[in-house]
Amino acid sequence: MTNPANLLAVLVGPKQFELQNRPLLDSPLKDDEVIVQVISTGICGSDFHTWTVGLPSPVALGHESAGVIVELGSGVKDRSVGERVVIEPGYPCLKCYFCIRGQPNTCSNMKHFSIPPTDGTLCKYVRITAIMAVPIKDTVSWIEAGCVQPLAVAVQLGRRANIRAHQTIVVFGCGALGLLIMAVCKAYGAKRVVAFDIEQSRVDFAVKHYATDGFLVPRDIQGDSMAFAKEFMTARLKELGLSFGVDVAIEVTGAESALQMGFASLRAGGTYVQTGLQHKPPRVPMLQVTTKDLTIVGTVRYTPGCFEDAVDLVDRKLVDVSPLVTSTYPLTKTQDAFEAQSRRGDIKIVIMNQE
Ligand SMILES: [Zn+2]
Ligand SMILES: [Zn+2]
Repeated sequence: MTNPANLLAVLVGPKQFELQNRPLLDSPLKDDEVIVQVISTGICGSDFHTWTVGLPSPVALGHESAGVIVELGSGVKDRSVGERVVIEPGYPCLKCYFCIRGQPNTCSNMKHFSIPPTDGTLCKYVRITAIMAVPIKDTVSWIEAGCVQPLAVAVQLGRRANIRAHQTIVVFGCGALGLLIMAVCKAYGAKRVVAFDIEQSRVDFAVKHYATDGFLVPRDIQGDSMAFAKEFMTARLKELGLSFGVDVAIEVTGAESALQMGFASLRAGGTYVQTGLQHKPPRVPMLQVTTKDLTIVGTVRYTPGCFEDAVDLVDRKLVDVSPLVTSTYPLTKTQDAFEAQSRRGDIKIVIMNQE
């Protein structure tokens, strides 16, 4: 068995990476494991947040990766050396109450790449359970493959919110995940997908590639934000010819104002979806939940089959992830990549792990 020399981009303090060399295996490869040579890794908003605040103990960051299988455990029969795969970054225990009820995304014992003590995938090689290596076709480029994990999160959102043809949908937040959610909504046949963001360049990007319409939202709202949300959304929906309200509102920013605009935009019987992380408790117009007969949906990570569905969307060219990737950096320049991300010029950066 080989034990490849590994290079990892370890976050040792806030905004501080250190490249560390250590052999991959500290124990023999298990029967059900494979070794993957990592080729590409997308940087996501949560990696970036972690980079800015640091971690309780140093680990390599990264969890949106793809690569090539270079070694099989003795019991692995349904994968092969040389096979191209995307990597599922979460390890549900498959034993707890939630796992056995089919909700491994809410596993009580979840191990996840880049959450201490588990190193992430900003490295040259990883060892993973074979079932976490999802095959991809040769037609999917490595850069596209680096976007499959967040696309799987968008697929899960589509399942949870029951996104389907002919719907009208508003999405708050034009970062990479928001854009992928818009792409999935369109791929599923939504009639209108309307993007909102506080930066005009991001709204323009969304409308160019993924949304049918887009609007700038003011950054600082004076006075009663709830009243503003109602007034602002009533005007925008009228412009769109959607005065009765939309079917689905999806919040991807974690901002209280976006949440309030989401509720204000919904028609009676509509669905509100929360995927942005709120760092302080927001004011929520709960009265509308009753009076408008709304459904509220939460969504986290992904469930079995979401990766396969995400790969299928890319493979059949129903979702084009390539415009999202605005820069690539070699693994050895990970620090530069995160500094570039902090300047907010990029939509999505992909690290090339072997460079
Ligand atoms: Zn991510
Ligand atoms: Zn579990």
